[in-house]
Amino acid sequence: MMNGHAIIVDGYVDEPACFGVPPYISPYIRYIAGALRERGFPEETIHYLTIDSVRVSPTNAAELLKRAKITVLVSGMTVPGKYLRSTPINPAEIESVFNASNGIRVLGGPIRLGFSKEGGRSASFLDVRNENVLISQLDIEAFVYDILEKNESLADPDIPEHRYRSVNEIACWGKKGAFIIRKHPDYPRVMCEIETYRGCGRRKHCSFCTEPFYGHSDHRPVKNVISEVSALYENGARYFRIGRQPDILGYHAKDIGGDIPQPEPDALLALYKGIRQAAPKLKVLHMDNANPATIVAYPDECREILRTIVKYHTSGDVAAMGMESADPDVIRANDLKAMPDEVFRAIGIINEVGRTRGASGLPELLPGINLVHGLRGETKRTFELNYDFLKNVLDSDLLVRRINIRQVMAFPGTKMYGHDELVSRNKKLFLKYKEMVRKNIDQPMLRKVVPPGTRLKDVLCEVNEANICFGRQMGSYPLLVGIPANMPLGEFTDITVTGHGQRSVTGVPFPLDINQAPLRFIQELPGIGKKQAVTIRSKTPFSDREDFLKRVESADQLLKYLRINS
Ligand code: SF4
Repeated sequence: MMNGHAIIVDGYVDEPACFGVPPYISPYIRYIAGALRERGFPEETIHYLTIDSVRVSPTNAAELLKRAKITVLVSGMTVPGKYLRSTPINPAEIESVFNASNGIRVLGGPIRLGFSKEGGRSASFLDVRNENVLISQLDIEAFVYDILEKNESLADPDIPEHRYRSVNEIACWGKKGAFIIRKHPDYPRVMCEIETYRGCGRRKHCSFCTEPFYGHSDHRPVKNVISEVSALYENGARYFRIGRQPDILGYHAKDIGGDIPQPEPDALLALYKGIRQAAPKLKVLHMDNANPATIVAYPDECREILRTIVKYHTSGDVAAMGMESADPDVIRANDLKAMPDEVFRAIGIINEVGRTRGASGLPELLPGINLVHGLRGETKRTFELNYDFLKNVLDSDLLVRRINIRQVMAFPGTKMYGHDELVSRNKKLFLKYKEMVRKNIDQPMLRKVVPPGTRLKDVLCEVNEANICFGRQMGSYPLLVGIPANMPLGEFTDITVTGHGQRSVTGVPFPLDINQAPLRFIQELPGIGKKQAVTIRSKTPFSDREDFLKRVESADQLLKYLRINS
C-alpha cells in the first residue's frame, strides 16, 4: 500500500471524440484513478480536484497539493468551445498547481499535442517552466502506472518510457477508477464519457485530424465497456455518453478492403442492450460521432444500428457528423470523408430513423453537422457552397440538431500543420458567413426542432445571471435554455419553450402556477402579449380550471401549460 495521498487535478479536456468539461467527466480521470489504485493507493487517499474547485478554494487545494505524493494534471482542448459555467485551465494555472506541489508532478492528456486558447490558431507545445514537471507524451494513465512501478519511495523518480495503454489495462483501470465520480463537484449529476475505441478505421486521413496518431482502431470488447458502465452505475452514475470513438457506427467494424470498414450491427446491439441491463435506471444514454461516409457506404447496416440506438438510448441524442466542407475541391485537397450529396443522404437516413419526438421533449436522434474552415484549397466559393448546402437542408424539411462551425486548429504532426494561413486570410469572410448561418439557418431550424410550446423535461438550472437562469438538459450537445428569472441552482425543472435565439431557447417552468407566476413568465407563454399577461395577472387568483376558462380569453390554448390551484 502506498503511503500518503495522490491528487488528480482536472483541467478539463475537449476533443472531437472525448468530452470532459463539467458536467462531463472524461475517461482519463477514471483511468488514472484506477491506475493509482492498482499501484496501491486506497480510494480514500486519491483526491480529485477540478480546476474550478481549485479556483473556489485555493488554500485548501494548496494544502493538499503540498502534501501529495503525486499530482497528476489532465488537460487539453483540441476543439475549444464556449462553456456555460466552467473554464478550462490556462498555462498560468498549470504553473501554479505544480508550484504548489511537492511530490511527483505529471502533466498529460490532449495537452501533449499542443496548446491553444481558441480554434483558428495553431497549437504550440506548452512551455512548462517548472522543471520538476514530467510531461506524458502518450497516454497519461499508462505513464502514471509505470512511474509508480519502480518508485515506491517516490523520490527522484525514474522516468518510464512513454507508451499507449492497452485495452486490457483500461478494462481494469476503468472499473477500479469508477469510484472517482463520487468526488466530482457535480456528483451525482455527472455525465460519464464512455470509450469504445480509438484510432480512425479509414485508410486515408483528414488533413487536420489528430485521431490517426492512435494508429489502428483498438476496439474494446463489448463486455469490457459494459463492466465499466456497471462499475460506474454502482457508484451512482446515471448519465452516460458513448462519445469516445471517432465513429460509433464503426465499432467493431470489419476491414474488408475499402476506405471505410464495414459496420457490425450485432456489436452495437450487444453494447446497447448490455448497457441497459447493467444500468437499468440510467437517465441518459447518448452517443457522439458518426461518419457520414459509413452511412452512405453501408446504409442497411447503419439503419439497423441507428434503430438499435433509438431503441435503447434516451431521446435528445445527436449523431454529430464531421462533414467539414461542402466544397469538392477542399474535400479532395484534405482527404475528407464524404461529398456533399453523400452527407445529405446521411442526414436523410438519420432523420428517417430518429426524428420522432421522445420523452425528453426533443426528437429521439438527430444529425449534427460539423464544418471546419481554413482548410487547404478554401476560397470564397467554399463559404457559398457551405451556406447553400445548409440552406438546402433547411428547405428540405430535414432536421439538424446542431451546426458546429469552427476554424481549424492545426496540430504538429498533422498535414495541416504549417499550412493554415487561410485561417487568418479568410477570417472576415468566416465571421460574416458564420453570422449568416446563425441567423438564417440555425434559428429557423431550431424553431422546427423545438417549436413554441414544446415541453422540455428535466432542465438543470446552472447559472443565474442578470435575472435570467441558464440551464440545460443532461445530454450530448444540450440545448441552452434561458428562463427569465433567477431559479434555484442545481435543481431540475421542466420548461415550456416560448422563444428562440440563434442557438438557444427561452422557456418558462412547466406547469406554470398561474396564481403565483410573475408577469414575465406569463407574458412569455405562446400566444400571449404583455397586455394580455397584465390582464390575466390582474385576475388572479383563479380557483380552478373552470374559473380560468370562464374569465380568460383564449384560455383553452393556455391551459396545457398551466397548473391552477385555489
Ligand atoms: S474520418 Fe477524418 S476526421 Fe474522422 S477520425 Fe478519421 S481522420 Fe479523423
